[in-house]
Amino acid sequence: AMPTVAIVGRPNVGKSTLVNRILGRREAVVEDIPGVTRDRVSYAAVWSGRRFLVQDTGGWEPDAKGMGQAIARQAEFAMNTADAVVLVVDATVGATATDEAVARVLRRSKTPVLLAANKVDDERVESEAAALWSLGLGEPRSVSAAHGRGAGDLLDAILEVL
Ligand code: GDP
Ligand code: MG
Repeated sequence: AMPTVAIVGRPNVGKSTLVNRILGRREAVVEDIPGVTRDRVSYAAVWSGRRFLVQDTGGWEPDAKGMGQAIARQAEFAMNTADAVVLVVDATVGATATDEAVARVLRRSKTPVLLAANKVDDERVESEAAALWSLGLGEPRSVSAAHGRGAGDLLDAILEVL
């Protein structure tokens, strides 16, 4: 079977935009309104000649009670079923309580976890990305899913652990 990389994180951090960037096409649904992605949707991707599945996640009601728990459960499911997990955080916002709760779950993962610091559209945001070392998931990998900055390096890192 093809290896699967699951993309997890709270609403509006740019998970679906990152999935589209990995696919090189617009297939995952991007919305300014958070929470539109259905539970889990997998797409076939290829990078450096290697084929894998990329799984977008979502499906919770924005700001619903228990949303943080639903995201943490989704992350836990991902680490138990996928071959690699990418936690996406919005570097321009910084680590929220929800991000920290999800990171706490993922720190127990035996499956490799990469931390993507998204919305680093230019180098002025790099210092905010570096602050995400605090999540305890290793090096925050700066990326701008919207513009492509850092996406190749993130994909190389994903393939290294896949
Ligand atoms: P999701 O809920 O995590 O799947 O987030 P989406 O991919 O739907 O994106 C949420 C919003 O963030 C949309 O308005 C995107 O255009 C925006 N966005 C996503 N990635 C970036 C990025 O790298 N830079 C900036 N500035 N905005 C982004
Ligand atoms: Mg989405």
